[in-house]
Amino acid sequence: MLKNLAILGSTGSIGVSTLEIVAANPERYRVVSLSAGSNLGRLEEQIRTFKPELVAVVAPEDADHLRTVFGPGGPEILSGVEGLIACATHSDATMVVSAIVGAAGLVPTIAAVEAGKDIALANKETLVVAGPLVMQAVARRGVRLLPVDSEHSAIFQSIEGHRPADVKRLILTASGGPFRERTIAELAQVSCQDALAHPNWSMGRKISIDSATMMNKGLEVIEAHWLFDLPAERIDVHIHPQSIVHSMVEYVDGSVMAQMGIPDMKTPIAYALSHPERLPLDLPSLDLCSLGTLSFSRPDFERFACLGLAYAALREGGTAPAVLNAANEIAVEAFLNGTIGFLDIPAIIRTVMDGHRAESLDNIEHALRADRRGREEARRLIGAI
Ligand code: NAD
Ligand code: MG
Repeated sequence: MLKNLAILGSTGSIGVSTLEIVAANPERYRVVSLSAGSNLGRLEEQIRTFKPELVAVVAPEDADHLRTVFGPGGPEILSGVEGLIACATHSDATMVVSAIVGAAGLVPTIAAVEAGKDIALANKETLVVAGPLVMQAVARRGVRLLPVDSEHSAIFQSIEGHRPADVKRLILTASGGPFRERTIAELAQVSCQDALAHPNWSMGRKISIDSATMMNKGLEVIEAHWLFDLPAERIDVHIHPQSIVHSMVEYVDGSVMAQMGIPDMKTPIAYALSHPERLPLDLPSLDLCSLGTLSFSRPDFERFACLGLAYAALREGGTAPAVLNAANEIAVEAFLNGTIGFLDIPAIIRTVMDGHRAESLDNIEHALRADRRGREEARRLIGAI
């Protein structure tokens, strides 16, 4: 059956991979709406290829430009948060691919859930900022929330058909990023270019820096907590530089289920789109014999302090993860701009967290307020550096 998709963040790394899957399976997927914040040229191409009914961009002047390009025969073109929400709640869409980066994904994703759409979730920040509220809305609206993040897809695939009560712990794997073997002294000197060069995955800039600091894994621990309903003590992280085992589930009888594959985001994206079926993808077979060795080790919480900060925020609960995420977004942006050094990222987040008293999270406005406060405080600290 044809599935109608709304794709938020269509010009990004996940958005582009999603559209490659759509292009290869026109009998299964149709794009009804697209949204993007940047890369207008790529968005124009996508509009020509996929002919969505609605397109949303961030800036009103970008919307004006697209209206001029496509004219009256083109799609409806909107801008701002209203545009994003319209894209996410399009009446013809049955599934929304949430692939914006950062907390900006929260509002449209919640709107999609409230509108009864199934969600293919790449935007992990949505669950970090407002996990309990999103999960409550998902349950209340009876929609499906399918993970796109490779680790969570691996856990999802390893947990299906099992009783939740039989799960002992989750083991998230992490490549360790480009700086896995750097000393603290070396980390103090790394450049933005070094940090963007991830060994195994090609991703957007923000998540690439998050991978280098290991905040990405920290955000994923929080994401796993909400998706699979396990406490922080039962979510472990293993460094696995080959990125072949995408994550594991340990059961009470000692069995460990792992999902493996070559590192290509098309596999977890396709599974979220096609679940419970599997889509044939044109990928090389995993050749374990050529690889020879899969190795695992414990993460170093000293060199990669962001991981510990995320665990602490999860344990603290309430608004703490939203503030952690906000401070991280601002610190990463400042690092990308060359304003601060690599080790300033965890230092800023730690100071913001130390100054924050977590409150309970009762509604989305509350989460957004915590997000704003975390940003303001991080900006203030960066300004003082
Ligand atoms: P990206 O930077 O490549 O793309 C982000 C997309 O969102 C772009 O289309 C951009 O224009 C749009 N966007 C950015 N800010 C926006 C805003 N404020 N309003 C509206 N649109 C905005 O990012 P990505 O690597 O594709 O990652 C997207 C999400 O998926 C992130 O949450 C990331 O953590 C998650 N994720 C990505 C990967 C990966 O391999 N890239 C893997 C797992 C999870
Ligand atoms: Mg991941």
